[in-house]
Amino acid sequence: MPHRKKNRRPLLLLCIAAALVISMLCAVKYGVDSSKLRKESGELRLRVAELSSQLAETAQRLQETEAQAQGDPEDDGGQSDPDEAGSGGEEHTPEGGEDAPGVPVSNPTEGMEHPEYQELYPDFYAETDFSAGWNDQDNVAYLTFDDGPTERTPEVLDILAQKGVKATFFVVGTTLKSDFGKKMLQRIVDEGHTVAMHSMTHKYNVIYSSVEAFLDDFNQEYELIYEIAGVHPTLFRFPGGSINTYNKSIYKELISEMLRRGFLYYDWNVSGEDAAGAKTAQAVASNVISQSEKRSRCVVLLHDGEDKTATVAALPGMIDSLTAQGKQILPLDESVKPIVYGYRD
Ligand SMILES: [Zn+2]
Repeated sequence: MPHRKKNRRPLLLLCIAAALVISMLCAVKYGVDSSKLRKESGELRLRVAELSSQLAETAQRLQETEAQAQGDPEDDGGQSDPDEAGSGGEEHTPEGGEDAPGVPVSNPTEGMEHPEYQELYPDFYAETDFSAGWNDQDNVAYLTFDDGPTERTPEVLDILAQKGVKATFFVVGTTLKSDFGKKMLQRIVDEGHTVAMHSMTHKYNVIYSSVEAFLDDFNQEYELIYEIAGVHPTLFRFPGGSINTYNKSIYKELISEMLRRGFLYYDWNVSGEDAAGAKTAQAVASNVISQSEKRSRCVVLLHDGEDKTATVAALPGMIDSLTAQGKQILPLDESVKPIVYGYRD
């Protein structure tokens, strides 16, 4: 026993020493590893922070780009449909790098399908020049007379001459075919008023039956006015206004196609209501005066149809009242910012 006991002690000591060495080695190993791990983890945290910051910058840039893209249409200064569809002016080209959003390609419509009616009547285009921008001056009244010329037209022209004011005549093509009609059209032009289109036939169920029918009708009137008076009208008014019960399924196409061809249309924001209820001069005048008092820019709807004697009688007093309101009375031209109906659907 003692012999065996004597032999075991060095082995035990050796084992203890070995265990100590192993634990020390382990301690050194794991110590190194853990400090390396801490270092690596620190580096990783730095990298994550860097990436987050890059991500935040990218998100910021994206937001700015989106805001710029959404902001572009408002840069038109509120100019409405006609400019967008008609001129596509230079002010629409955004500044910025080659990747800037909204930069038009050389021919944005190339290869795109378009309605066949765009090919019809290749000479039915207005040579409108929008480069000067819109005139939307305040304190102005644009008197407009629809549906003539008739026997009332020379009476209207005489009053306008006496008062020294110019107006706009939205003429109907069929009334221009007689010698009297031709003479009146020439007189309107010669006396410095604006001649504008109001359709060849004024037949709602015909002109609003399709875009093609509408173009066919207006193209006829366009050519007729040029034949008689040597002027190409650039303005028009939809019979019944731009949106009515007859054209409700195609009015957007009609508007877009006419604007694409360079024509401008005007609805109205003041009406003598002489086509409907107003039968007396006093009623016509008071409609115009009360409505125009509330507006700074007035497009005044009147008619010089055969039976509109009340309108003729109302006219001198109406002009005096508009002048007394501080309004300048002017004819429409293609620089006048249109007053048009709004639509949302
Ligand atoms: Zn009419």
